[in-house]
Amino acid sequence: MNAPSALASAYIAFRDDLIDDGLLVPMGSDGLFGRGAVFESIVTALDTAIMTLGADNNPTILRFPPVISRSLIERTDYLKSFPDLLGSVHSFSGSDRDHLALIATAESGGDWAQAFTSTDVVLCPAACYPLYPMSSGQTVPDSGRIYDVVGTCFRREPSIDPARMQSFRQHEQVFIGGESEAMAFRNRWLERGSGLLRQLGLPVEAVIANDPFFGRVGKMLASSQRDQALKWEMVVPICSEEWPTAIASTNAHQDHFGAPFDIRRPNGSAAHSACIGFGLERCTLALLRHHGLDPHLWPSEVRAILWS
Ligand code: ZN
Repeated sequence: MNAPSALASAYIAFRDDLIDDGLLVPMGSDGLFGRGAVFESIVTALDTAIMTLGADNNPTILRFPPVISRSLIERTDYLKSFPDLLGSVHSFSGSDRDHLALIATAESGGDWAQAFTSTDVVLCPAACYPLYPMSSGQTVPDSGRIYDVVGTCFRREPSIDPARMQSFRQHEQVFIGGESEAMAFRNRWLERGSGLLRQLGLPVEAVIANDPFFGRVGKMLASSQRDQALKWEMVVPICSEEWPTAIASTNAHQDHFGAPFDIRRPNGSAAHSACIGFGLERCTLALLRHHGLDPHLWPSEVRAILWS
């Protein structure tokens, strides 16, 4: 989507303010940023607030690296839905002679990466993905297994919108278990998630998600997701009232992961799953936008939630 020019100016103005104040550090590719101490202090506080909010579920806490095995992604329908967003890790495994050719190509400004071949790992696109293989081949109770995960995710969508990063962190709570229980989990977290964001002074609204599925196959998947109202986003205006940004989402996956990963319910059918994911950078940017770039000056009730 080409951003209308007023929107583009708003993105650039906010991004430049963030960079000028040292909150973000540009890294030479749109949507790729280092983060300064103040930015990270907000991320850390949010992380703790989200974990505290979900502590009553007594989740299993797990943290994963930013890469996952290629076989994992092959068991999901990510390649069908978002091939354009996936990052695949390639490396060099040539001979000495190939190496010399590689260096010559690089030195002449050519595309040295052509000499790289795919490996057995890809960049993780969603923090909950590494969880599903863990229950593969197992029967889970209908009351479910609940996890708290944080992961670095990659999506190849370079943008001037500072809220659309290529590499970002998601904090998720994930449920794997019965069908009605998964739906109840999603609904409960839609309320809880919106509640936390509202307490943080953000004018959040819940809307049915409109994910950017790829191509013709994707169009069908997108309309089915919308028709069934499976995924909801919590949106907040960051650079535009008209085009608010999704800073968190809750998703009922049905048996979308339970079936391919062979996770079963006690009655033998495929397990259902659901998750809530908070985009930590996006939540941070929403707070900076609505309360100002210096967290010391934020409303005391917001500071009390994050730094009490
Ligand atoms: Zn998820």
